[in-house]
Amino acid sequence: MDVPTFRRVLRTLIERYKPKNWAAEMDPFEALVAIIVSQNSTDLVTERVMKDLSARVRVTPETIAKMPEVRLVKILRPAGLARQKVPKIREIARTVVKKHGGKMDAFIAAPAPVAREMLLELPGVGPKTADVWLNLVAGRDTMPMDTHIARLVRRWHLSTATDYDGINEDLRRHIPEKDRQMGHLALIMFGREICQARRPQCEACPVYEDCDAEEKRPRARSPKINTAS
Ligand code: SF4
Repeated sequence: MDVPTFRRVLRTLIERYKPKNWAAEMDPFEALVAIIVSQNSTDLVTERVMKDLSARVRVTPETIAKMPEVRLVKILRPAGLARQKVPKIREIARTVVKKHGGKMDAFIAAPAPVAREMLLELPGVGPKTADVWLNLVAGRDTMPMDTHIARLVRRWHLSTATDYDGINEDLRRHIPEKDRQMGHLALIMFGREICQARRPQCEACPVYEDCDAEEKRPRARSPKINTAS
């Protein structure tokens, strides 16, 4: 798929899904916790778990750093992998308290590449988490890429790179800055709903005509009406 076609596809998907930035209303630290909670989970469960957490405590680096691990595991359990996520979240909270006075202000104020490095220095924060936070919370022009977006990039032949940073660089070249936030969310929704990993729902695909994926399946022809009497 060439770049103009991809941009057209992206506009169609943004228009179809009209994504909302779920992190816009959140405190920056709370949003970072939510991004980690959301890994291997659904939006609905993440939302429920974060609501439950914030109903019990103020989600600040100080409170989370002090919270007993077992209590946090219990609250985050519905989102899955709580035993892996909780030590990560508590370690991040402790580092933010110790190195940044319990605030994320420095991450928001720093130029994007510096802020990205600062985020990557937090324990357990990888490129994807850093890019999602920068994009959704700090409004930076990163183009976060999850498993759904990586699959679409591969299916639509948008990059020959095989690593996160290489694919990410190509995507940023292809997607105008203004479309990266909504584009990121719309592509994830499309990957979850229609262009799924195992069995893409080509029958219902809104960008069928533009798709050049090897996985594209022919649409069933509408049955011929027999007009003979
Ligand atoms: S036509 Fe099929 S393979 Fe192509 S984007 Fe749509 S769902 Fe995915």
